[in-house]
Amino acid sequence: MTKLMIIYTGGTVGMIYDEKNRSLRPISFGEIRDHLPELYRLGYHFFVHPFKPPIDSSNMHPDRWVELVEIIEQHYHYYDGFVILHGSDTMAFTASALSFMLENLSKPVVLTGSQLPIGQIRTDAKENIITALEIAATRINGHAAVPEVCIYFDFQLFRGNRTKKYNAEKFEAFYSMNYPPLAEAGITIKYHQPFILPPPTEPIRFHKKLDPHVSVLKIFPGITPETVDAILNTPHSRAIILETFGSGNAPTAAWFIRSLEKAIKKGKIILNITQCDGGSVELGRYETSEKLLEIGVVSGYDMTFEAAITKTMFLLGQDLSTEEIICLLQRPLRGELTLPESTNSKAVHSYWTNSPLS
Ligand code: ASP
Repeated sequence: MTKLMIIYTGGTVGMIYDEKNRSLRPISFGEIRDHLPELYRLGYHFFVHPFKPPIDSSNMHPDRWVELVEIIEQHYHYYDGFVILHGSDTMAFTASALSFMLENLSKPVVLTGSQLPIGQIRTDAKENIITALEIAATRINGHAAVPEVCIYFDFQLFRGNRTKKYNAEKFEAFYSMNYPPLAEAGITIKYHQPFILPPPTEPIRFHKKLDPHVSVLKIFPGITPETVDAILNTPHSRAIILETFGSGNAPTAAWFIRSLEKAIKKGKIILNITQCDGGSVELGRYETSEKLLEIGVVSGYDMTFEAAITKTMFLLGQDLSTEEIICLLQRPLRGELTLPESTNSKAVHSYWTNSPLS
C-alpha cells in the first residue's frame, strides 16, 4: 500500500469562517478530514503531522523550513511521498527553500493549499489536496513520477523554485513564467517528462543551515542615494538581491555604481535578478548593465525572487567561500535557473513556442 505523509502547516486551506468574529480562523487537521471524506477512498496509508498551532503562512520563517526538513528526514525512508498543506502567500518561498535543503531528492514533496477555505461550498481545497496526494503517490518505471519539491495548484504542477504567487483572487493563484508545468491535471494527469528532474544517483542529503542575512534592493526611477546606501550597509547583511529593470538594467549614475562597488569591495555579494516575472538577466546586453558586470555584480539569470532569496540563504549557510557562493549562485543546483545556452533552454523555448497556451 502506498504510504504518504501529510504535513499540515496551516493557511486558508485549513480555515473556516467564524460568524461571530467575522474572520477566518484555523481549524485542526481532524476538521479538514471531516470535510474531505474522499481521502479514505484514495486507498493510501496516511500519516499526518500537524503544526501546533497551524500558522498563516505570513508567519513562515527559516526556522520552520528547518523543522520541515527534520520532519521529512525522520520519515523519509518510510513514506513514498510527502504532501505539505501550506498557506498560499509564502508557499513559493517554502517550496524554493526546501528544494535547496533537500539534495538528491528521490521522492515527491508536493506543496498545496487553497484560495477558499475547505468549509466553503465552492472551495478549491478538495481538488488541490486530492490531486496533490495522487501525484505524490504516482510512480513511473519504478521511480517517483516527480522526484522534486513542487507546487500543485489549480490543475497545474510546477517546480517549486520556479513558482510565484501572482494572484490573490483567482483559483489559478500561481504561475511559473520561465519553466513549463511539470504536469497538468485534466481527466488524467499528464506528466511533462522532459521537464522533470531525473531520479538522483546519489543518496539524499538533508541541509539544515540557512543564513538569513540577506537584504533586498528594489530599484525604481528616483531612488535616492540614502535609500541605496541604507540597504547596502544593512548591518550583518552578507548578500543583497538587486531587483533590476528588464534584462538586468540599472541607473548608470556614478553615485549608484560607486555605492554598489563599495559594498562588493567590502565582501558583500550582489545578485542581480529582474523585476519582470518572465525572462532573464543578461548582463552586458545594454549599456545600463555593462557597469554592473564590470564591478562584479552576479547574474541571477531567470531565477524568481523567491528562489534567489532562499538559494542565497542556503549558500550563505554552507561552509563556502565568497567565490564558491558566487560561482554556485550562477549555476542551476535544483533546476531553479536556465543558462541561456543550455540544452534545457532550447527544450523550454520549444515548449513555449509549440504550446497551445503560448
Ligand atoms: N494568508 C493565507 C496564508 O498564506 C492565504 C492562503 O492560504 O491562501 O496562510
